Amino acid sequence: MKKSPIEKREFYKQTIYIKRDDLLSKEFSGNKARKFYYFLENDFPHITRVVSYGSAQSNAMYSLSVLAKLRGWKFDYYVEHIASYLQENPHGNYKYALKNGMQVHIGQDIPILTKDDLLIEEGGRQKEAEYGLKILAQEILEWQEEQGFEELNVFLPSGTGTTALYLAKSFNTNEVARLKPSPPTVFTVPCVGDSEYLKKQFLMLEANEDLHPTILIPTKKRHFGKLYRDSYKIWLELQAKMGIEFDLLYDPQGWITLLENPQIFEKPTLYIHQGGLIGNESMLARYIRKYGEDI
Ligand SMILES: *Cc1c(COP(=O)(O)O)cnc(C)c1O
Repeated sequence: MKKSPIEKREFYKQTIYIKRDDLLSKEFSGNKARKFYYFLENDFPHITRVVSYGSAQSNAMYSLSVLAKLRGWKFDYYVEHIASYLQENPHGNYKYALKNGMQVHIGQDIPILTKDDLLIEEGGRQKEAEYGLKILAQEILEWQEEQGFEELNVFLPSGTGTTALYLAKSFNTNEVARLKPSPPTVFTVPCVGDSEYLKKQFLMLEANEDLHPTILIPTKKRHFGKLYRDSYKIWLELQAKMGIEFDLLYDPQGWITLLENPQIFEKPTLYIHQGGLIGNESMLARYIRKYGEDI
């Protein structure tokens, strides 16, 4: 995997650096590429099939379809339910995952697996994600060194929290970073459940709380996948002022919460762009239907 660039921008008078993991590659990009990198790089002589489950519009589902295609594996994906509109008019992640050869199973139990099957947990929450996130941490530490920044704050919004957790763990266990006065601090905000849920997710992957990210609590409760006027507004502003398209599911909550915590900007701050842009196709259509092209 080539390194992703880091760009310097201004937003609401704050200087911010953006790690463009959305540009990692055309198909296999964002944090899912980091989380699944282990399965791209290592040998799995037995595996012939990937099995996973979750929602029919998930970014992880799409990235797994790319992984399976690249590796020549079959891909079986289990969903509880699919909206009939989506089934009749495939779009977004669902459409492109089907194009990549995904077989979707609706309302069925996951079959009994064999040694030829690779099971991926919903959203890619699993230990193997650490492998690719160590590489992301290394890229950031090298950049920090080049910039001559003594300290650094890193921010990214969380779903399962796997990306934020392994990034924080990698910084705190990296040999070079540990020699510094302090390794980068990772801040995150829950987008799927509340902070209790996110803490539990972290604990499932890492018992040592010293290695966990710092959780910020948003001032307003937003439900995952629902549409909010302020989320749409900030997404349009990010695009207009920085010329960068962010994801519509996680990044609006991310940017709103980051701006609610200006103390973070007292140190150089790096925002991780985690990709997810294919999913915007369906989210944006919903936003335009609700609020129009602009607000
Ligand atoms: C999957 C995803 C996340 C959440 O990642 P976790 O590792 O589950 O916390 C955030 N942003 C985007 C764009 C994603 O696709």
